[in-house]
Amino acid sequence: MKLGLRLASGLIGLLGWTLSGAADASRPWLNTSLSADARAELLNRQLTLDERISLVHGIWSRPDRDITVPPDAIISAGYVPGVPRLGIPPLYETDASLGITNPLRLRPGDGATALPASLALAATFSPELSFRTGELLGEEARAKGFNVLLGPGVNLARDPRNGRNFEYLGEDPLVSGVLGGQTIRGIQDNHVIATIKHLALNDQETNRHWVDARIDPAALRESDLLAFEMGIEIGHPGSVMCAYNRVNGPYACGNDFLLNRVLKQDWSYPGWVMSDWGAVYATDFAAQGLDQQSGEQADERVWFGELLKNAVQSGRISEARLKDMTRRILRSMFAVGLFEHPADRSGAIDYAAHARVVRDVAAQGLVLLRNRDHALPLTGAAKRILVVGGYADLGVLSGGGSSQVYEPNTDWRSAIRVGGEGRSGARRNMVFHSSPPLAAIRARASGAQVTFDDGRYPAATAVLARHADVVIVFAHQWMMENEDVPDMSLPQGQDALIGAVAKANPHTIVVLETGGAVSMPWVEEVAAVVEAWYAGTGGAEAIADVLFGQVNPSGRLPVTFPASISQYPRPEIAGWGRPEGENFEAPHPEGALVGYRWLDRNGQSPLFAFGFGLSYTRFEYTDLEIRPGKPLTLSFKVTNIGDRAGGDVPQAYLTSVNGSRSLRLIGFQRLMLAPGESKAVQLSVDPRLLAHFDARANRWQLAAGVYELAVGSSAAQQSLHSSTRLTARTLQP
Ligand code: BGC
Repeated sequence: MKLGLRLASGLIGLLGWTLSGAADASRPWLNTSLSADARAELLNRQLTLDERISLVHGIWSRPDRDITVPPDAIISAGYVPGVPRLGIPPLYETDASLGITNPLRLRPGDGATALPASLALAATFSPELSFRTGELLGEEARAKGFNVLLGPGVNLARDPRNGRNFEYLGEDPLVSGVLGGQTIRGIQDNHVIATIKHLALNDQETNRHWVDARIDPAALRESDLLAFEMGIEIGHPGSVMCAYNRVNGPYACGNDFLLNRVLKQDWSYPGWVMSDWGAVYATDFAAQGLDQQSGEQADERVWFGELLKNAVQSGRISEARLKDMTRRILRSMFAVGLFEHPADRSGAIDYAAHARVVRDVAAQGLVLLRNRDHALPLTGAAKRILVVGGYADLGVLSGGGSSQVYEPNTDWRSAIRVGGEGRSGARRNMVFHSSPPLAAIRARASGAQVTFDDGRYPAATAVLARHADVVIVFAHQWMMENEDVPDMSLPQGQDALIGAVAKANPHTIVVLETGGAVSMPWVEEVAAVVEAWYAGTGGAEAIADVLFGQVNPSGRLPVTFPASISQYPRPEIAGWGRPEGENFEAPHPEGALVGYRWLDRNGQSPLFAFGFGLSYTRFEYTDLEIRPGKPLTLSFKVTNIGDRAGGDVPQAYLTSVNGSRSLRLIGFQRLMLAPGESKAVQLSVDPRLLAHFDARANRWQLAAGVYELAVGSSAAQQSLHSSTRLTARTLQP
């Protein structure tokens, strides 16, 4: 019987192979031994004009928007019907980088693992953890029936007030490109197409549909575009999402320079460009390089439906171009394995295992910013602990917008929502993941009395603080898509609260749950500061582990914390206060000198530098050697000179070229070291990080001369220095 079953399943397997293999003469594109390009070419030839048109536009698959969602679609961000005649599967698209979303909770009861903010992932500086979170995203997307994930986002965090920084990987193109690329690999290993977004310069949310980001084109190549370029090289995402804003004139989704010239010509990108939801303004965008109109109800017209068909029939858009659009979509579907590995809605998700991954990310991404007199980790000596504010009795904060995730098994009515802050009004609520720091602290402080005060009245909290051995203040800054914050302060008087508490009790520890850098007028008065970002599912456990020393903090800042916004190029966010609908420009005078590079150029010191983060142990760097070659490599030794095991992220910087100062991260590595242990680190340097982009010649130019390099623990702290002489070299873009 068993043998019979095995034979039968063997036969079914063989049949499956025959149907999808070389022997199926009627569908040669199913032959898996052919390349994705060849398969796409074969299938693309079969499409009729109407079938082509139906592949290049899709709906926002939400019944709340006057849309009839087809029965086989999943309520989510987007849906593009397939072509059953040819066996082309539909595209089921979901957001995104922080977990699988469920817009407006229209899929009853369907939650997902909530990842920590992408800034927390970036703070780990860990390609491995990026890959693992990508795998997690891919697995959950696939098990919920999706085959396209609308992430990751690699826009550079140019301004701490940007409402979406928490969805991005920081201010440095190398970190963003490498971690974004690894995330994409993890997603696509699960046969789910990843979408790198938002190309490009979607670096403010204020009036994002009307802002024209103006930047020197060479500087753009060396900054935001380099993050995309590296992410694409490492991860090979099936899709690229173009942004809402304009870039140097034209809209990003109708931008010949960005899409045709840079992405498709210079980088030979073989996949497809999809629009952001509501970012298309004309059928002609097809000629400028856009391949697919997404979430079409968000646009004024369905530009890529009948209108595109008419344009092709009348010759305004060439048929060859339309064929190129569908070929690109099919190519990615083959490359990522959508035909052979259809998404499977019945797939089981091991949420417990995923919670362990995200807890690792939260723990390794936590950044200890200040630790006066070893205030942390907490020891058993504190008998009365006062926990204050930040809704620490409820859970950990998450960011709002299209990336909002609700956890598994959440009863929507009881999901922790506090609201509604933000200019969008009470419709929007802050969502807390059900991991209350208060409970996690209580669990670790068994010998102590732990009390909570919500901090609404600073004077009253200060009285309580006076009677505590230690005060832990949780401060929150809620950020969301579609709006920026006006300044870097903690909202709702929290700076005054912390100031009052710190005055009452010198043993005050501040835990920040923020969407990025904030100002800290009270920093000198408090004993310790921990940046926990938005910590995700199980985030409170990670926070408490660091506070009580079960985990030695090892996160490093992926963004500069400036001393004040006046150190940055834009005192005010461009367009702030303007009515919607008015076009305006956002100058980018910093060009490629984003964050730490801008401060260094202007000789200014930040509050906390890019790359900075403390540990409960100490590390020493020695034996720097540079080997000029192709690629240039650096080697050095890292030793844990303290008495606790800990993780470190040594960083290599370019500091000057031919005597002229030029600070730039050129390499990094995360490692774990036992007390007294040494490890050798070897870093190969991508030559583009040492070069300048020559826009006129359209290539990278590495100048001949002396390059000073350094190794250290942040952009502001380097302990090893050496130099090397390089010969001139050019590199194709
Ligand atoms: C966001 C994208 C998102 C899309 C679909 C847009 O508002 O900018 O990042 O993928 O919506 O939900």
